[in-house]
Amino acid sequence: MKKSLFLLLASCLLAACELLPFSSPFSGPQVVAHRGYWKTEGSAQNSISSLLNAGRIGAYGSEFDVNLTADDQLVINHDFTYLGMVIRETTLEVLRNDTLRLQNGERIPTLDEYLEASLQYPELKLVLELKSEGDPIYEETAIHKIIEAIQRYGVQRRVEFISFSLSACEAFARQMPKNRVEYLGSDILPAELKERGISGIDYHYSAFDLHPELVTQAHELGMIVNAWTVDKEEDIKRMLALGVDHITTNEPELAQQLIADFKATADPRR
Ligand code: MG
Repeated sequence: MKKSLFLLLASCLLAACELLPFSSPFSGPQVVAHRGYWKTEGSAQNSISSLLNAGRIGAYGSEFDVNLTADDQLVINHDFTYLGMVIRETTLEVLRNDTLRLQNGERIPTLDEYLEASLQYPELKLVLELKSEGDPIYEETAIHKIIEAIQRYGVQRRVEFISFSLSACEAFARQMPKNRVEYLGSDILPAELKERGISGIDYHYSAFDLHPELVTQAHELGMIVNAWTVDKEEDIKRMLALGVDHITTNEPELAQQLIADFKATADPRR
């Protein structure tokens, strides 16, 4: 009898764990390195080097931008163009031509290369932004391939999805329900996003200056709050005082120091 009760409790516990989200909510303010930590000697935005730098300094996450090529391959790049070529109209082979390099000499990374390199820092979150202009076929293909790659490298637990495309956010939320998904558009109230299954807001910091109540509204709904792209000391301090959870920044070491100062002076009853 005791054994069967134990087995029942164990199976209930396992079932509960299966439902838990991969990212634990509200673990205190954290730093997300915007396009990786690229402001260092020999690095470049959205490079493998910037990813490794983010891991080396112990950032919470490395943010990076994903685009789909003409032959449906995933590459890391902020803009829809790379060195004058439209990524969606250019094959991976052309984009990876030996003469084409990032500022630090790397080739444009593929998502596979990025995920493989991330295995060196298993604690680092991978804050994956899908660049999209809202085309449903593009989004369906990109999201399918992104999820395949994430599963291939076994990094499901480490990925948080972000996008300016509401439909892409909804698709990620449907297909990866245990992963955090944050909408970037700064123009939708937390309650509506929550209804659409989206678990966080990742808004330009000016939105929180104008409407600080967004932070409370999101938190009351159990949603995470991320502010982008916060580089100046006074802006980082102000966002911390407003209670945002994540600071996405091009100055991750400065933000880490300001968060440490903030925690040291914060009222423990807060
Ligand atoms: Mg981005």
